Amino acid sequence: MKVFDAHSDILNDVTNKRELSIENIIENYHLDRLQRGNVFGSIFSIWVEPEHSNDYRKRTFEILSAASAELYRGRDKVKFVKRFEDFTRAERENKTAILLGLEGMASVKEDIDLVYFFYQCGIRAGGLTWNEENTLATGISGNSNRGITKYGVGVIEVMEQLGMVLDVSHLNEKSFWDVNKHAKRPYIASHSNVFSLRSHPRNLKDEQIKAIADSGGVVGINAWPDFVDENNPTIEKLATHIDYIVRLVGIEYVGLGFDFCHFLDNGTLDSLLGNGNTIPNLTNAGQIQNLVLALKQKGYGDEELNKIAHLNFMRVFKEILK
Ligand SMILES: [Zn+2]
Repeated sequence: MKVFDAHSDILNDVTNKRELSIENIIENYHLDRLQRGNVFGSIFSIWVEPEHSNDYRKRTFEILSAASAELYRGRDKVKFVKRFEDFTRAERENKTAILLGLEGMASVKEDIDLVYFFYQCGIRAGGLTWNEENTLATGISGNSNRGITKYGVGVIEVMEQLGMVLDVSHLNEKSFWDVNKHAKRPYIASHSNVFSLRSHPRNLKDEQIKAIADSGGVVGINAWPDFVDENNPTIEKLATHIDYIVRLVGIEYVGLGFDFCHFLDNGTLDSLLGNGNTIPNLTNAGQIQNLVLALKQKGYGDEELNKIAHLNFMRVFKEILK
């Protein structure tokens, strides 16, 4: 089953390795696993690690330049997606389709021109925050009474005008509802699960899932163990999160955004405060088809699985990317 993964932090590994003068990192360290998992496309996120949060903009540029070099030099194997037709081209040319996203936009600060700059660099998705609060909005670790700023509203308008996919995964609830009020296009939660099944602030309450579906967007289900189950995360439990969304809003609004982190360095991983659990047989992209199998065992047929595995996200990209 062909899969689109709406959230990957591979670019952090790319940037760290390029700093050590290693090249062709996607091809030599990641492509094999992506191919084994049948990942035909993915959003590669530009995520500023907490240890770099004192200079968010500098690190954003470092990751963006590393990504630009890798995507250009690896162009025989990967397709840098900037418009919807690039997905078709990637398939025809037998390449993995990579879309760049910003996991948090604190780097914009008060300079809205940077949103245009990021778009011109090929970035086609973005969330206003990671966990922090910034000049645009408030993430899950910020003040729960603070939502998005006037400035953040302006950023949403520019993103929608340019054709960038708005991602709400890390926002706190107040920011989420502010975005819902101001967004005019479908928006996504690229990597979040169901709060009713695992009460974690990174997961979505039923009303939030309904709002995303109402917008025409998609929730990408996340394989970070702590978002799946507090004590005993399993593939079956992850499949239950998918099932829950299907029953709540329908099969058209759920997708996959795995958030695999095994390649991050230990310092960065420790800062993410996971509880040390892993999901057996689903720790990296090479094992994605195990989830597809679990869904088959739950009774999903091929047509339904195709929607979950990639078609739902493709619908959003077709509508938003120009
Ligand atoms: Zn994330």
